[in-house]
Amino acid sequence: MANDRGTKEEEEDQEGGNFRKGPWWRTVLRAVTAAPRFRDRAKVIPGACHYSAEFDFFEEIMLGRGDVVLETINEAGKRVGYLVGSQILCITSPVFRAMLGRASSFKEGIDTRRAAILGHHRPAVIRLEDDSDALGLVLRVLHHRYDFPDEDVGSQRFVKITEICCKYELRKPFQALADDLKELLDLEHVVTATNGYEDCVLISYVFGYERLFTVATKEVILWSRKGLHFEHNQRLSASTPSSTIAQLEQERNNRANILRTHIESIQTEWSAPSSHKCLRATNGEHCEALGLGNLIKTIVRLRLNEKESWDQELNAIFAELGRIPPLPLVSHEQCDWVPALHDFVQSTRMGVKGLKLSDSPP
Ligand SMILES: [Zn+2]
Repeated sequence: MANDRGTKEEEEDQEGGNFRKGPWWRTVLRAVTAAPRFRDRAKVIPGACHYSAEFDFFEEIMLGRGDVVLETINEAGKRVGYLVGSQILCITSPVFRAMLGRASSFKEGIDTRRAAILGHHRPAVIRLEDDSDALGLVLRVLHHRYDFPDEDVGSQRFVKITEICCKYELRKPFQALADDLKELLDLEHVVTATNGYEDCVLISYVFGYERLFTVATKEVILWSRKGLHFEHNQRLSASTPSSTIAQLEQERNNRANILRTHIESIQTEWSAPSSHKCLRATNGEHCEALGLGNLIKTIVRLRLNEKESWDQELNAIFAELGRIPPLPLVSHEQCDWVPALHDFVQSTRMGVKGLKLSDSPP
């Protein structure tokens, strides 16, 4: 977050790079270079100061007395600036308070105080790496300039807002708005009906939605592959706490291991030389040969002896095991290993529970 531009601007001001005080050639040069950008590219709210020309999009959220510009780069690579009030940021966010408050030894805080003491027209500029649209929305809400339930905020944008609330510890000012959005977007149903579960883990974690957290984490466990980059393959927000990600990964791996161990035990049982699997008095040899044949064929076809097969999505493993056909041998259903396996798969699947928010408090 360090702002290397701050020093450069400071020098310019000291040299007299200001519009009124600067040497005539600089004034002309700046007027010429700034004017077209200002007119053609910048979306400027009336009343914005002259430095807004340095941005592609500039919005004066704090009218009149803004003393900090938060700068981000949007998806198109354009510079976006929001003029805001450092006091409002400090009151609402402990993170901004640490950065900009009186006691701050961060460069951002020093710049802001220096600008205030010297009575500079130019506010301190702080570069942030947040999503620029979501940041603008959050800042408008903090400055009482916006009421976002009226706006079309989809779940993706809700996640971006949540990431900002998580990073700057803005949960409290946004709790009521988040509650409205959660209902409006019907997230608890979206989680199971679509692939939107990964978004809801962070939302429910930050805003304390117990039920949604459990439902969303259950879906993550069911749809997860095993992998080094677990959070990537799940498209979980980068702000998701690492402890939650570790718990999800462990749950997923435990279930896969339970199934794998079960399959191995069936193999051991059926391949023992003295094993008698048929429970009927007649047709026993035929029954056992078919059962063993089906087992070997299944192991080969589904590659159940290969590690990679157990790394795929848990739901895919459940589905494949659930599709193994039982033996077509009338009155020998009790001897077959397949129906028992189907029951085991079903109960393992039912045993997958989501995480409890109380076990991983924010
Ligand atoms: Zn039998």
